[in-house]
Amino acid sequence: MNTYRDIFKWGDKREAQIDEGTLKVIQKEFGFTDEKFKDKYLVGDQEVKLNHKCQLDQIIIDQFIKIVGAENCKIDDYSRASHSYGKFYAELIKLRKGLIPTPPDLVIYPRNEEDIIQIISICNSHKIAVTPFGGHSSVTRGVETPNGGISLDLTKHLNKIIEVNEINSTVTVQSGMYGPVFENYLNNYGEKYTCGHFPQSFEYSTVGGWVAAKGAGQASTGYGKIEHMVLSLRVVTPTGIIETKTYPASAQGWDLYTIFIGSEGTLGVITQVTMKIHKFRPNQTKHASFIFKNFDSAVTAMRNVMQSGIGVPHLFRISDPEETDIAFKTKNFEGTIADKFLNTIGYKSGSRCLMFVSVDGDKAYTNHVISSIKKIVKKSGTFYLGASPTKKWLEQRYSSAYLRDPLMDLGIMTDTLETAVMWNNLISLWSSVRTYLKSREKTVAMVHISHVYENGANLYFTFLSPMKTADELADYESFHKGLVDTIHANKGSLSHHHGIGRTLAPWMQNELGKNSLDLMQAIKDQLDPNGIMNPGNTLGLKP
Ligand SMILES: Cc1cc2nc3c(=O)[nH]c(=O)nc-3n(C[C@H](O)[C@H](O)[C@H](O)COP(=O)(O)OP(=O)(O)OC[C@H]3O[C@@H](n4cnc5c(N)ncnc54)[C@H](O)[C@@H]3O)c2cc1C
Repeated sequence: MNTYRDIFKWGDKREAQIDEGTLKVIQKEFGFTDEKFKDKYLVGDQEVKLNHKCQLDQIIIDQFIKIVGAENCKIDDYSRASHSYGKFYAELIKLRKGLIPTPPDLVIYPRNEEDIIQIISICNSHKIAVTPFGGHSSVTRGVETPNGGISLDLTKHLNKIIEVNEINSTVTVQSGMYGPVFENYLNNYGEKYTCGHFPQSFEYSTVGGWVAAKGAGQASTGYGKIEHMVLSLRVVTPTGIIETKTYPASAQGWDLYTIFIGSEGTLGVITQVTMKIHKFRPNQTKHASFIFKNFDSAVTAMRNVMQSGIGVPHLFRISDPEETDIAFKTKNFEGTIADKFLNTIGYKSGSRCLMFVSVDGDKAYTNHVISSIKKIVKKSGTFYLGASPTKKWLEQRYSSAYLRDPLMDLGIMTDTLETAVMWNNLISLWSSVRTYLKSREKTVAMVHISHVYENGANLYFTFLSPMKTADELADYESFHKGLVDTIHANKGSLSHHHGIGRTLAPWMQNELGKNSLDLMQAIKDQLDPNGIMNPGNTLGLKP
């Protein structure tokens, strides 16, 4: 039996367990009793059944079948339901409740670019919506199909490496390839390479999704965000193919490939991408971990490193006091001799902050950057914790994504939001958002910085709070709206790397200004005059 749980669960079908340390934190923060832990809320184990029939004429369906074959055209309830949502919190709640009012009419797995050209052409003639679908890890309602139509799943066939060019240090890859297969291929190719892009969703997201949603990985401080990695791409749009040439840089007017980075499926289907690659030398990577007395001094130290000219770390991260405390509690560090020692020498629970650093590259470089960082951060009154905490963090870096499902089973609202901000506004934004999050009774609010620049950084907010059961969607929506409003009012961007989708679309005009949004709309209208590509307000675009 195929259940809604099979659709919303992160990763494969294994059930993740909440560890002992986290259970203790939940018990303390939310006052949960042992009885309460036995209750499971909206587990979504009912069989998937759609109330919404496919709206496409059989003649049209037959045309699609003729192109890709019946085995690549799916109309059954489970296929359509599993292509209806990504991983946005409200989508997960809807799936737990079995609410899918607008599934795609048909799921198509194109075998190659020629199939995509023909499918888009039919859809354009008949004004049928097309939503590109990668790993569906979108947390912005990016793969929803409010107008039904086709969910175009690129993961089944468009998942090959086209070329690795070791002279130019580039790879050309099809867009539906998942992160681990891509990275593994590069790690074992020729002189051995890495792509350098490791979002927390790495295991279940695709190259096309990274580019279309303009993402960032944990090592972005060194390797850059995805827009710093892409050199060229190929896109099938309703008005034809756009292929940009590969140059290290050019001055031929605008760099047109950049229009598609962050286009979120609204302009066309990205079929292949050429990206920079880097030498893979994990044995030469150096790690360091530090603790600071408070968030201010950690942020100042981080800024000083980025503005010092000593080179940049690849992973660079600080957790604010609450996130640091929760990390210590869940890892059973609290109350140990080491914990007591840190408290005695002034690194007190409730205000101290952890910093993690990793530097990739040639041994002389990694040694130089780590020793320079040690000197710089010392001025902000830090205590060096050695390499091990950072290494341990890296070992479990993808695991927290699996915790969301068992936490939601306990009736705990679990979500994240992120933003980018200039250094001079960072502390006030952090403090205002924390005040907002903490205004909700019984809310754990953890914040970290994980993508750092000379001029500013991101802030990443994770919050846990008991759901208002029976009214959990409306409750979440109003809490989420207040949070985005607070970020916006305190000079944070709407997103640093999750993208806009439909979730943040209502804020776009205010953020960009009418003229800028009109310009985006004009580009959309040129490439997609019938508005078939991922319609329904994605990025704030019409229709
Ligand atoms: C647990 C978790 C952790 C996450 N951590 C991170 C993180 O660390 N960093 C980060 O950047 N993001 C993160 N995300 C968000 C998400 O994983 C990223 O946005 C990711 O890049 C989406 O890739 P995907 O293949 O899943 O794309 P999808 O979710 O399938 O699609 C995302 C959007 O891109 C469009 N799209 C997909 N493929 C194409 C294509 N080939 N052509 C045109 N449009 C296309 C879709 O229509 C949709 O609008 C996280 C999400 C989750 C659930």
